[in-house]
Amino acid sequence: MTSEPAPWDWEFDWHLTNRCNFDCEYCHPQIKHVLNRKNLNEPDAQLVVRRFDETGRVCLVHMSGGEPFLFPGFVDLCAGLTRRHHISINTNLATPDVAEFARRVDPAKTVKIVAALHIGERERLGLGLTDYARDVHLLRALGFDVDALYVLYPPLLGRLVTDLEQLSDLGVEQVRAKVFKGVLNGRRYPEAYSDAEKEFILGYSGQYLFNKPYLDGPPDFRGAPCSAGVSSFKVTVTGDVRRCASVPARYGNLYDGTFSAADAAELCPARRVLVLSQCLAYSFVTERASS
Ligand code: SF4
Repeated sequence: MTSEPAPWDWEFDWHLTNRCNFDCEYCHPQIKHVLNRKNLNEPDAQLVVRRFDETGRVCLVHMSGGEPFLFPGFVDLCAGLTRRHHISINTNLATPDVAEFARRVDPAKTVKIVAALHIGERERLGLGLTDYARDVHLLRALGFDVDALYVLYPPLLGRLVTDLEQLSDLGVEQVRAKVFKGVLNGRRYPEAYSDAEKEFILGYSGQYLFNKPYLDGPPDFRGAPCSAGVSSFKVTVTGDVRRCASVPARYGNLYDGTFSAADAAELCPARRVLVLSQCLAYSFVTERASS
């Protein structure tokens, strides 16, 4: 923990591509069956770098998808963005250009790489854990901050311990288990985990802070002032800028140059919080969320 101010002015949560090389059975149906077949005409990497530069702010750009490494020219994009800005990436770490990324992108400008472990898809595609461990080690050796995250789809609960032991044997420690959010067999998770399962999950959460509030039921931020829309934004795959993942208020389009931030913080109108980390970071009443 540090009281130093962040070295960026604005944060963007950018869904940069719908492409994915995995087909996880627990992927959100809207993404799995609709989005992954639409909007596959991503903008040119240099255009996007220019648009972020044109904000006149130093930005932290969180990149997720889809699989970010499948954005055409992804390494060029990251190299361009990190000249002025900072990035973080949520990836399945299962593409061949991780080594090129590690060689060309500045780890000091890469705040975090979340390496999500989708064990079922790795096995289906014959990727296993050895390749995953190799890429984690490669990135960490060069100074990248990599979090290994195991997605705890309920049918995987029984094999988690064995998988963690295998990862440990490969030198990947401190793996964080992440709750599944979605519907399985007509039951909505994380609410449907049993008390024993919740306790088990919390025991394997490590430094991942968001399992407990998700398992307890996300706090209500409605009516609280929040800087989302002023200094933090959600960018959809078409470049449309929204307030956050949970609130679709629009702020123009990043790609076509019409993006414009709000002047003042407004109250949160969200009935259901989709990405708790955003609320905890941007709402002015974070103590409510951690209580
Ligand atoms: S509190 Fe959360 S849901 Fe509400 S506007 Fe802020 S980031 Fe969005």
